[in-house]
Amino acid sequence: MPSIRLIPLHPVVLDVIPTLVDPLRFIFSGEIVLEKPLSNIVLRAYDDSRAQYNSTEILRQLIDFPQTDSKVLGITSVDLFVPVLTYVFGEAQLGGVASVVSTYRLDNTIYGLPADPVLFFERVLKEAVHELGHSFGLYHCRTLDCAMHASSAVEDIDVKGAMLCDECRRQISA
Ligand SMILES: [Zn+2]
Ligand SMILES: [Zn+2]
Repeated sequence: MPSIRLIPLHPVVLDVIPTLVDPLRFIFSGEIVLEKPLSNIVLRAYDDSRAQYNSTEILRQLIDFPQTDSKVLGITSVDLFVPVLTYVFGEAQLGGVASVVSTYRLDNTIYGLPADPVLFFERVLKEAVHELGHSFGLYHCRTLDCAMHASSAVEDIDVKGAMLCDECRRQISA
């Protein structure tokens, strides 16, 4: 199994990232490497006209990250978009190297609700597993509690689990 490199991309809520290491190691049965934060990648992806950050542009830059046989997951707290959608929670190259997750819309406070650190951590983990799953070649899964189930709203994330279903697990270990 390739190792997974977690790269904090400023601006980012740093506290949540180390808490992802153990669960990701368990779920993907591989080495997890916590990299030093990078500061310029997100800035270069800023789109003036939308006041958001282009996730595909972030992926393009992450592909250049020096690596051996690893998957690279960038984590940031800015609001991401792709041109055809209002926002995205993250994006990944299907079966490729790079993926990115945003914590922006996973935080209750942007919906006017009280902060909920446990729920926040769970959402970030689920989206990290989801985007990494795409990196490992997984498509969306119809199993409701599988992390590869598609989520277009934060409520969808809360319904699913952080684990991969048996079928998805079988595909990435094949
Ligand atoms: Zn997806
Ligand atoms: Zn599945």
